[in-house]
Amino acid sequence: MTDPKSARSEMAQRFAPPPEISTAFIDNAILPPAAGRRLAIVDPATEQRVGFVEEADAGVVDKVVSAARLALAQGPWPRMAAEARQEILRRIASLIEEHAEELAFLECLNSGIPMRHLALGQIPRAALNFRFFADYIGQSSGQTFSQNPQFLTLVTREPIGVAGLIGPWNAPLALLSMKIAGCIAFGNCCVAKPAEQTPLALARFMSLIAQSGLPPGVVNLVHGTGQVTGEALVRHPGVDLISFTGGTQTGRKIMAAAGEGLKGTSLELGGKSANIVFDTADYDRALDAALLSIFSNNGQQCLAGSRILVQRSISRRFIDDFVARARALRLGDPMSPATEMGPLAFAAHLDRVLSFVEVARADGGQLLTGGERARGFAAGYYMAPTVVLAPSNAARIAQEEVFGPFATFIVFDTVDEAIAIANQSRFGLVCYVWSQHLQTVMQAIGGIEAGTVWVNTPMARELHAPFGGVKQSGPGREGGAASEAFYTSQKTSMIPRSTVSMTRLGLGGAG
Ligand code: NAD
Repeated sequence: MTDPKSARSEMAQRFAPPPEISTAFIDNAILPPAAGRRLAIVDPATEQRVGFVEEADAGVVDKVVSAARLALAQGPWPRMAAEARQEILRRIASLIEEHAEELAFLECLNSGIPMRHLALGQIPRAALNFRFFADYIGQSSGQTFSQNPQFLTLVTREPIGVAGLIGPWNAPLALLSMKIAGCIAFGNCCVAKPAEQTPLALARFMSLIAQSGLPPGVVNLVHGTGQVTGEALVRHPGVDLISFTGGTQTGRKIMAAAGEGLKGTSLELGGKSANIVFDTADYDRALDAALLSIFSNNGQQCLAGSRILVQRSISRRFIDDFVARARALRLGDPMSPATEMGPLAFAAHLDRVLSFVEVARADGGQLLTGGERARGFAAGYYMAPTVVLAPSNAARIAQEEVFGPFATFIVFDTVDEAIAIANQSRFGLVCYVWSQHLQTVMQAIGGIEAGTVWVNTPMARELHAPFGGVKQSGPGREGGAASEAFYTSQKTSMIPRSTVSMTRLGLGGAG
């Protein structure tokens, strides 16, 4: 097996990030650092600073939005034939693939997401996002209505304009590239803002954009915090719509600010998703998937199956097996291909996740394993995989999103009870259902309040289908036709088929 230390230093030599990253990427060029506020970029596995990012203030945001508006008004991109746009989108996908190792390294260095998860999942997904939308626009079409013999009515779709695209830190490139691809494929221009904690891979991705042949001003990017850069972007009058993925509280603020400008919003927010394991499940697969859906990506996933509802007849065995496997998870340097779980993304987040251990205890929860920083690490924001048995679904650990390697178990008796518990949540992003019994599955699909129900399936993303939540997981859907609906506006044109009769006014004389 590769020694993690040597894998890390070998990659660091090949792909070292620049020590300072500028405030913005504008018109296919990097805006050189000026005198803006510098924010540290930290490697969560070593707690070492690996660089700085410079925050874009409202003035920089204004400059970047203006570049995007100019590209929209005068540039070739919105007016290009779909074939020409497809070619560039596919070139972006190929550039991601050619630089996959470097992008994975930078993402790993900055976020602590294990290398194998990046190499097999998130980086290929970033390339797929562009290929998918390249294919999609080759087939999309408008509508014609001919029911009325007097008119041929055409409905065409046009780009909406300039979009502000704001992403979180838990899957930086995979999630923001989905927004960028969906947005520009339909002829829009955009200003993207990655989370301030994780700018590295996206900053490198911008230089690939510059190589791709995409006209200047179509994809722009600003770095900085939500309060400064994010707010300036959302409120800028030159921004027509906002796509946001992040926390529910932030989503609420963004929707209110965007509402003042009557801007369209798509919000993909938090979750506390139920993973329901019935006694009719394929036991081994359900156990594998339960572990995967809460501990992969270091537990930092919006779609985590963080509330595991297990039927009483199998609950003791299932929870014991789950705890034993959680204790055996390989924690370590995320650069090592053997690592199953890396550190949490940043110090304040580790503190927040750890604070839920006290919350669980205070609520009468039973701590089954973990509940502390992982032992044996001299540095790094490592947390021991944590499993809690909740006293009831009303407990805070069953209701609040922890966003870490923190599984909450709840035991139920009947199918109706499982569905009711799953729905007793302010969130409704996804739900996992494990059963081999068709009627149980159908009853669950019908009764569950969630944007996606995965049946006997671990996390899976289908770009053709809409993805998004209900309730406080956010109003918004992206993927396939849902992205087309969000990133385009419909124009209805009515063309007469013959001379249309008209009432003539002003011919009445003195009357
Ligand atoms: P966050 O809400 O703190 O930040 C997300 C982004 O919003 C960052 O870029 C941040 O700088 C920016 N931001 C913060 N305040 C802002 C403001 N007032 N105006 C404009 N921008 C602002 O979220 P996070 O902590 O980075 O991400 C974790 C959250 O994201 C979790 O709740 C998770 O469930 C959610 N998430 C949801 C999905 C989904 O598809 N539903 C996917 C991934 C993550």
